Amino acid sequence: MFADYAVRVEHSRGRRYPEPPHPYRNDFQRDRDRVIHSRAFRRLDSKTQVFTRRYSDHFRNRLTHTLEVAQIARTIAAQLDLNVDLVEALALVHDVGHPPFGHAGEKALDSAMREHGYFFDHNLHALRIVEDFELRYAAFRGLNLTFEVREGIIKHSHDYDPEQFPELAEYLLDQRPPVEAQLIDLADEIAYTTADLDDGYEAHLLSLEQIRSGVPGFDSLFQEADRKWPNVAEKLKFNEALKRMLDSFVNDLIGATQMNIQKAGVHNLDDVRTRPYRLVSFSADIEKQRRQAKSFLYSTLYYSPALDSEKREGERVIRELFEFWMQNPDSLPSNYREKAEIEPLARIVCDYVAGMTDNYIYEQHQKYCVGLGRQPPRS
Ligand code: MG
Repeated sequence: MFADYAVRVEHSRGRRYPEPPHPYRNDFQRDRDRVIHSRAFRRLDSKTQVFTRRYSDHFRNRLTHTLEVAQIARTIAAQLDLNVDLVEALALVHDVGHPPFGHAGEKALDSAMREHGYFFDHNLHALRIVEDFELRYAAFRGLNLTFEVREGIIKHSHDYDPEQFPELAEYLLDQRPPVEAQLIDLADEIAYTTADLDDGYEAHLLSLEQIRSGVPGFDSLFQEADRKWPNVAEKLKFNEALKRMLDSFVNDLIGATQMNIQKAGVHNLDDVRTRPYRLVSFSADIEKQRRQAKSFLYSTLYYSPALDSEKREGERVIRELFEFWMQNPDSLPSNYREKAEIEPLARIVCDYVAGMTDNYIYEQHQKYCVGLGRQPPRS
């Protein structure tokens, strides 16, 4: 049972290279499976989300974060009678464009690119991965994903200006993405906001008192858990409160989105696409709570001195390696050297660096920068 504004796989605009249908998997299910079987997806396991492996093997990395987003997004999609197969494919692919070292890595790669007159954007990079870099099929480069999945990669979290990005014209930049793509961004927010409180607490970087005073929504849920289970361990009450916080975000997103859809008089996919604003949102009250939690995490965790030295280390590794390959393009692997004959060198170096895992980039840095005495004195 689909809502009348859901994306229907039989109405898909299809793949770049037509393929015969599969006997029992539809095109969105096949796209989901192609993402899971891609190299870029497997590499997420060795990419930092917030905490590096130095902290603990049971904190989220980009792969487990991605699985949590997929679980949350599927739940929401099913309640809204959306296309769950499409949502699952979009959730699983949503972070494949991220470079090593989390947001610090993204910032460093972007500023290295800007020095050469370009920029780095993880959604655009994800599109390059699925369109070109993944080599699994004899008949074409990339994963040959359906239009709707490629469109969602570009548009799930960000509206690109059609004038600034004429090369993305096929993705209908003047239209909103389907509800399936819109909800990925907020499922992502729900997943990382709750997960980062959890890992921050487990890492002893955030105390219970700090979280309770900085995140009022969490505090009232913790008090509830405390009244119900006064004698259990603090971490179990913490878990109960956090679980309820996640649940209340999900519940609210479902209810508020249903209300938005009803109020807007949306009856089909075209109505979704031609609306001036996105239809997926939280209510004003939960949106306020989410923002409070997010700004709490920014001030206490993401920019905390405890994570700072590793972030700076990651930025330095990216900056030095990027410059090394700009000066020594002959040291790039042969397939990248060949590409550099057609595309700007900075773009090719950026592609190479962005695809690396945290482990691999450290190895490369060791090989090309440290051994050659390029390492500046540590501050
Ligand atoms: Mg994410």
